[in-house]
Amino acid sequence: MKLPIYLDYQATTPVDPRVLEAMLPYFGAEFGNAASRSHAYGWSAEEAVSNAREKIAKTIGASAKEIVFTSGSTEAINLAMKGVADMYGAKGKHIITSQAEHKAVLDTAKHLEKQGFDVTYLDPDQTGRVSVEAVEAAMREDTILVSLMWANNEVGTLNPIREIGKLCHDRGVLFFTDATQAVGKIPVDVEADNIDLLCISAHKLYGPKGVGCLFVRRRKPRVRLVSQMDGGGHERGMRSGTLNVPGIVGLAEACRLSRESLDSETKHARALRERLEKSICDRLDHVHFNGNREHHLEGCLNLSFPYVEGESLLMGINDIAVSSGSACTSASLEPSHVLRSMKVGDEIAHSSIRFGIGRFTTEEEIDFCADKVVEVVKRLRELSPLYEMVLEGIDLSTVNWTGEH
Ligand SMILES: *Cc1c(COP(=O)(O)O)cnc(C)c1O
Repeated sequence: MKLPIYLDYQATTPVDPRVLEAMLPYFGAEFGNAASRSHAYGWSAEEAVSNAREKIAKTIGASAKEIVFTSGSTEAINLAMKGVADMYGAKGKHIITSQAEHKAVLDTAKHLEKQGFDVTYLDPDQTGRVSVEAVEAAMREDTILVSLMWANNEVGTLNPIREIGKLCHDRGVLFFTDATQAVGKIPVDVEADNIDLLCISAHKLYGPKGVGCLFVRRRKPRVRLVSQMDGGGHERGMRSGTLNVPGIVGLAEACRLSRESLDSETKHARALRERLEKSICDRLDHVHFNGNREHHLEGCLNLSFPYVEGESLLMGINDIAVSSGSACTSASLEPSHVLRSMKVGDEIAHSSIRFGIGRFTTEEEIDFCADKVVEVVKRLRELSPLYEMVLEGIDLSTVNWTGEH
């Protein structure tokens, strides 16, 4: 077993060896520019891109012409939201999203607010889920876009995408979903799920970093976007720039593999997640589950260990590569905006750990991880005066910490 054990599959995934194999020729002999129309090097690259487009489209039930390649999800999110705002801003200025979105969506929404758009940030429920009813209640005459993620990257909660999409279509409002954590892990069908715009990032599904795509619906309705990157008119004018041919080939192979193994990987992730949770919770009290028990990703387990500092816990389990809800935004000690939006309380937000399970995770690794977490939490709690008070039956919410009366 190789240490540290990687359990951070929501942050990124290793490139699958089969994906790397598929990409290699395009770093070597097949180095052509897909935009070169006058010779065989270009034709061969163009053919590779065209085949990739087909494979990726098929994974999400789209057609090849609806795929626009980007440098990843962050860029695709910017293109979707700003592109729609620029194109339809004269029709309306209202956008709906949620507080639990990825920063790429939230920061883009903030940028649009500065440009004069009015953004409603819905609060998710305590499980991290946004309801169709909440979206419906927020809709206005001038709403032009709803942007809601499919699967949350911190707690794994799934939003009711198909129902929200249906509502948007009924109201003539465009619907964008950040599906970065969903594609490759759950079935996605842009037709049945009523989606107008959707982003994918290769490095979240065993492909390379720095490549992804945006699905842009071509009919019923035809979505138009103002490009955010000019220069040469690649990707039907929506995103200029020489295509990353090896990356695109890798993204397509990653999509194909994930489609092929969706069922078996779902089972694998579920078994390991259940094993990890049981093994930890059987041996520790006061463990809090963050997320939704019914609607969730199988490979994501977010647990809080109240009365233990997230940072100390992370240091204690340094043989395991995981993320903490308190350390998400680099150096700041701010708890994660997702947990805050779920209103889980400070103690829980500050002590949360996200365990990300994936294709290459083994039972042995899960058992090692559980043992380590149990050992370190027990040790830290022995030193925790708060935990001692809890054991004595004191309700911490009634304690007057400042000594003032
Ligand atoms: C990783 C991630 C992104 C950003 O994707 P990049 O391709 O790394 O830019 C956006 N949204 C979600 C939900 C993510 O998990």
